[in-house]
Amino acid sequence: MTQDFKIPSEEELKARLSAEEYEVLRNKGTEIPYTGDFLTKTPDGTFICKVCGQPLFESTAKYESLTGWPSFDQAIPGAVTEKADDSHGMQRTEIVCSRCGSHLGHVFEDGPRTSTGKRYCVNSVCLNLDESKKPAPRAPAQADTEETAAEPTTP
Ligand SMILES: [Zn+2]
Repeated sequence: MTQDFKIPSEEELKARLSAEEYEVLRNKGTEIPYTGDFLTKTPDGTFICKVCGQPLFESTAKYESLTGWPSFDQAIPGAVTEKADDSHGMQRTEIVCSRCGSHLGHVFEDGPRTSTGKRYCVNSVCLNLDESKKPAPRAPAQADTEETAAEPTTP
């Protein structure tokens, strides 16, 4: 990824994106749950930002969270910026693409893996899939249990 990437103007983006995509990515909207293309599909590849193409999530991090949005237990390091979001009367953490600032969704601390603890709840419309970038296989979930066991615990 090059440093000289220029974020397209809002006019360009309006022309390029569908109305729903624009609303979610640039106005922090939320797609209707259970409607996203990537909700049930977990193809092998890398999910990239629909606006700038930066790789954000690997398909191996995707899991079924039963929330109605595609969910990931980790992001590609450095790809996602977290921001405090107290809109809608809730204390949440918004996630945006670290390169172009486009809204992606929110991150919560109730992820399934003890090693990351995160649930990245992402709008499908913010993502494209790059099937040419196959992620490396991840260590089995069992490795997490071993990691946890090594940490001090309070009975
Ligand atoms: Zn981006």
